[in-house]
Amino acid sequence: MVIPKVGFLFDVDGTLTYYRGVDSVVDLLLVNDLEKIRKFNHPIWLVTGRNVKWVQEVFFEHLNEELTSYMNVMGEYGLISNFQGKRKKRRLPKETTETLQKVRDLSIELLCEARELECIVSEEKPDKRCLWIEPKEVMLTIRTLPFYGLTTELFLRILEPIIEEYKDKLDFASNPYAIDILPKGINKKIAVEKAIALSDPNKEIDNWFAFGDSEADYEMGKTKKHSVTYYHVPRDISPKAHNIIEKVLTGKHPEGSKLM
Ligand SMILES: [Mg+2]
Repeated sequence: MVIPKVGFLFDVDGTLTYYRGVDSVVDLLLVNDLEKIRKFNHPIWLVTGRNVKWVQEVFFEHLNEELTSYMNVMGEYGLISNFQGKRKKRRLPKETTETLQKVRDLSIELLCEARELECIVSEEKPDKRCLWIEPKEVMLTIRTLPFYGLTTELFLRILEPIIEEYKDKLDFASNPYAIDILPKGINKKIAVEKAIALSDPNKEIDNWFAFGDSEADYEMGKTKKHSVTYYHVPRDISPKAHNIIEKVLTGKHPEGSKLM
């Protein structure tokens, strides 16, 4: 039996982790799968909106060293990457960087004023009512604190004038846990294309399998440049992803067809 050459692309939050409140907790079933994939020597990319530092310092805490040095990361939707230990920051036009900075300041000011909030920049969930900003190198991530009524819906409503004004230059991607503000055209499709170009420059890999749980993850399967089979695995049903990975690793996966 010939097992096709394959590669794996994973979103992190909600895919390799599950949520308990707003905390992202590592899914051990899938971590075990990552270890199996590594033993088969198939490439693994984490394609995430998180910053690379968080992936390395928080997520990797739960993984063994061999696995953490094996996996590659496309962080901040591909704006920052780490391939075989080499870090790269994507160059953006000066104007884009300035617009992002301006919108960052405006958004924080508007949200803080509207709800009388103090702004806290932290990887960890603050234990009080505040505007929680997740540290990023390039993009802006506003985290929600639903317990205090600080939800995505509320923040989007307050930010509406800014979103309207900058919608041609920036993307505002939201989910129940956060609002991500990033340059237009930066998305997981581009991140995946960059990842595959780095891992497989000679196009030897027959198929890539991508897994995600949110709107933004659908982009992973949209590339026309490579063969990527995307699986949308809604939150908290990680055994589904586990079953697909098992099938791929044992050569039982009917390539290209959807199992879910
Ligand atoms: Mg996710």
